[in-house]
Amino acid sequence: MRALAYSLSKLLPFADQLGSSQRRGVRAGMLALLLGTLTYTLATVLEWNVGAFDAPLNDWLYNALLVGAAASCIARALFVPVLRTAWLLIGLGVLAWALGDIYWTVWLTDAEQVPYPSPADALYILFYPFVYTALALLVRSTARHFHRSMWLDGLIGVLAVSSIAAAFVIDTILGDVGGSLAQVATNVSYPIGDLLLLVFIVGVFAIHGWRPPRAWMVLAAGIVVFAFADSYFLYSEAAGTYAVGGMLDGAWLLGLVAVGFSAWQPPIRERAIRIEGRAVLVVPFMFTLAAIGLLILGNFQHVPDISLALAGLATVIALLRVAITFNELRELPETRRQAETDELTGLSNRRLFYRKLTEAIDKAAKSSQQLAVLMIDLDHFKELNDTLGHYAGDTLLQQLGPRLQRTIRGEETLARLGGDEFGVLLPDGSVAARVAQRIEQELELPFDIGGVTMHVDASTGIALYPDHATSVEGLLQRADVAMYEAKGEHRAYRFYAPERDQHSRERLSMVSRLRGAIEAGELVLHYQPQVEISTGRVVSVEALVRWNDPERGLISPAEFIPVAEQTAVMHPLTLTVLDSAIAQSRSWLEEGVHLMVSVNISATNLLDEMLPDVVNQLLQRHRVPAEYLRLEMTENVLMSDPARAMKAIQELSDLGVEIALDDFGTGYSSLSYLKTLAVDELKIDMSFVTNMTTDPQDAAIVRSVLEMGHSMGLRVVAEGVETEQVRRELAGLGCDLAQGFLFSKALQPDEMVRWLHDRSGAEPGEASPAASEPALTT
Ligand code: C2E
Ligand code: CA
Ligand code: CA
Repeated sequence: MRALAYSLSKLLPFADQLGSSQRRGVRAGMLALLLGTLTYTLATVLEWNVGAFDAPLNDWLYNALLVGAAASCIARALFVPVLRTAWLLIGLGVLAWALGDIYWTVWLTDAEQVPYPSPADALYILFYPFVYTALALLVRSTARHFHRSMWLDGLIGVLAVSSIAAAFVIDTILGDVGGSLAQVATNVSYPIGDLLLLVFIVGVFAIHGWRPPRAWMVLAAGIVVFAFADSYFLYSEAAGTYAVGGMLDGAWLLGLVAVGFSAWQPPIRERAIRIEGRAVLVVPFMFTLAAIGLLILGNFQHVPDISLALAGLATVIALLRVAITFNELRELPETRRQAETDELTGLSNRRLFYRKLTEAIDKAAKSSQQLAVLMIDLDHFKELNDTLGHYAGDTLLQQLGPRLQRTIRGEETLARLGGDEFGVLLPDGSVAARVAQRIEQELELPFDIGGVTMHVDASTGIALYPDHATSVEGLLQRADVAMYEAKGEHRAYRFYAPERDQHSRERLSMVSRLRGAIEAGELVLHYQPQVEISTGRVVSVEALVRWNDPERGLISPAEFIPVAEQTAVMHPLTLTVLDSAIAQSRSWLEEGVHLMVSVNISATNLLDEMLPDVVNQLLQRHRVPAEYLRLEMTENVLMSDPARAMKAIQELSDLGVEIALDDFGTGYSSLSYLKTLAVDELKIDMSFVTNMTTDPQDAAIVRSVLEMGHSMGLRVVAEGVETEQVRRELAGLGCDLAQGFLFSKALQPDEMVRWLHDRSGAEPGEASPAASEPALTT
């Protein structure tokens, strides 16, 4: 039973979508139709039986089966809302035919003389208009999927079949009929009606690219069998060999039962109709050949004129079709190229890259190969665009394209993914590092952008299939993560590493929490005193930020500043720090404490063109003279964009603010910059200071920085002074200021004031102007 249900579901797939009672009804009905047809065929046709099978039973089974086929189509129209009218019309057409047969059985089987035409003929012929209309509706419902070349194929097929049919059928069947108008009309109706059906079916097959959905296949098979049975009938009747209940009756029945079954086949193929593929061209080619063959035949033998005309037309349309297809094929690579090329650089674009990557993954999956995706991003491209303009940015990208192109070969793909981001796809993952190195090498030579020579660095992230991810999105995302890591570490390239990704996720979440912390006012400043070595006076303090997290307590800037520096959060962070440092300066001034405040500025901040304005506004708002503020920045602010950094430093210096170069000695900036830079102070990095008494090399560096700074008229500060011995040595070398744990760690503002009083021997809470007079502002 289960097996029966299964095979019925396979046989009538479209019935599966019905409700259970309807489905059961349809399945039972169709099963009965199938078994009935089988019985009829076995009993009547296979035995060549004329009479062994009881005549009335034979006829009535036959009629019932025809009605069943019609009922199947009508049920489809009733139960399924899709293409209702078309199936109703087919059902009515088949029903008309069945009624014609019933009429024949009832009134004409035993008639002395069968009238011609009879009412049965009228009913038979009614089949055609119903079915044509239905077919037209069916075609229209799917027509929007069809390509214009398929319409032409359909036309070629229709014309070729018509011309051939005209050649053979018209002469034979119509050639020698006579009689009344009604007789001639009836005679003509059948072959023409069948011919049109065949032509219709050929056309439908053509517009479906010769692979129509199953409903069409079964319907077409039914109609073809039916039409052939009909044509054969006309022959055999002309020859006087027709016998009721013979093979021919079986063919009619089979054809119409197939039509009944087509009602429950899937009407639309799921996948889109393809216009490519050679198979599509085979059938129109055959038809064209047949039409040409007929034209040739016409030279040797009599072929009706109408037939020749149709064949000629088919050939002309075939030529037209070839011309159209040729044109489409010629345009295809060009349109495809345009759709997959990046206009600016001439490289492949994102779309092509995705397609190639998808294909490469498929291939690699089958051959268990490793492939690599490289994501390349230029460093500071945005700044370049902002300062030199978009034209300069475009020029750079244009020059970069060919250079990057040189780094890949053969099957490898290079694409501009957008902006200053490029992607490389390597079908062989093992060469990834080598390609990344070649990219680095290509960037060593400077670019010439409208007469300006400039260096551009890039960061490359590498993800491997299947090691890091197995999907297109996964690989791109991983390569992206690795690329940002490379950028953060100032490396040329980085392979993706899951453990670091976890780390960077944490860092990312920290950045977003930091953003909230800034708004919530959780950032606090501590101040570390800077002491004039020769006098022991505290002349300035360095503002050092801490994150006072309600849950985790005070978080060191070393934990969040390096992360923040890679993101836009550095702007609000510095703004808050500047604001509270300058505000603090104001309140100290009001207390009579004259301390210069030093604030740390990141490279990111310096590239922000608003910075000088912002600083100026804050000083004015808090009514703090510019000479009470010092900005510290490391020498690497000069690295990415020296010209712009120097300009910003000059503007800040013009405000009257002091500039200090922090962590001096650890960077790689050329000393020649120092001459042109508006700097007031050098801060020797604590890594040289702390151990200078034990490490002669450190001592030598401290000494040379001091000499150099003084020779350029700069103040020199030593950071990380932890022992009295170091302080004494620095004093001997003539160092100006010292800062370090020997004096104090960074303190809260009120602690700071207390500390100052303790140091000067004054009572806590009372400011001592003498002890805190800034020595450096006058
Ligand atoms: P930095 O600018 O070099 O600041 C000096 C760091 O050395 C401070 O650490 C300070 O507490 C520490 N230090 C001071 N004296 C000694 C000493 O004698 N021995 C030792 N071992 N360390 C000493 P802190 O506060 O953790 O700051 C770390 C870094 O965070 C700073 O280094 C600075 O680069 C950055 N930073 C702090 N606050 C800010 C800020 O407001 N803005 C920016 N952009 N960066 C900041
Ligand atoms: Ca500093
Ligand atoms: Ca420092």
